[in-house]
Amino acid sequence: MATPMSANRFLDALRDEGVTVVEVGDWRTHNRNHKGPWGPVHGVMIHHTVTSGAEKTVRICREGYEGLPGPLCHGVITKDGRVHLVGYGRSNHAGLGDDDVLRAVIAEKALPPDNEANTDGNRHFYGFECENLGDGEDPWTEAQLDAVERVSAAICRHHEWTARSVIGHLEWQPGKIDPKGFTMDAMRARVHERLK
Ligand SMILES: [Zn+2]
Repeated sequence: MATPMSANRFLDALRDEGVTVVEVGDWRTHNRNHKGPWGPVHGVMIHHTVTSGAEKTVRICREGYEGLPGPLCHGVITKDGRVHLVGYGRSNHAGLGDDDVLRAVIAEKALPPDNEANTDGNRHFYGFECENLGDGEDPWTEAQLDAVERVSAAICRHHEWTARSVIGHLEWQPGKIDPKGFTMDAMRARVHERLK
């Protein structure tokens, strides 16, 4: 059980981990808190956007689209490895996922299959969207993977979580495939190394 960081603490945690941060508009107060609770937080969730172009990707993640209002995450990780903060608080990134997975994340145990959509993930996860087409062909740059590693480690470090608290959307919600192009096991290994 963890209380979400304040927006300023979140910003500091990312910078302390060596992340190049871009603050977008009123990100500190841009959220969906009027639609439901934010916190307690239990983990970090990684996504891909199915978009290309940094400017367009950041705009969509900030504003959302018809049927899914923004923000769609907290930070957008563009190909150049920069992390654009578009919102803070409850955001529309995780949707409904599996309560068994949430229990495993809280206990920091190996994840069970995600075969139920019965639990509000937007309440419980920090979320990062990564600029990638998600077709298995669009390359992930090392700068981008490095940023995924650093943002994840920054949050785990603050909350004294292990790398087991970092999951992909595909491990949370049935039918999701993101992020595609690297494995979450490999990313968790990187985060584990960084947290040593
Ligand atoms: Zn996703």
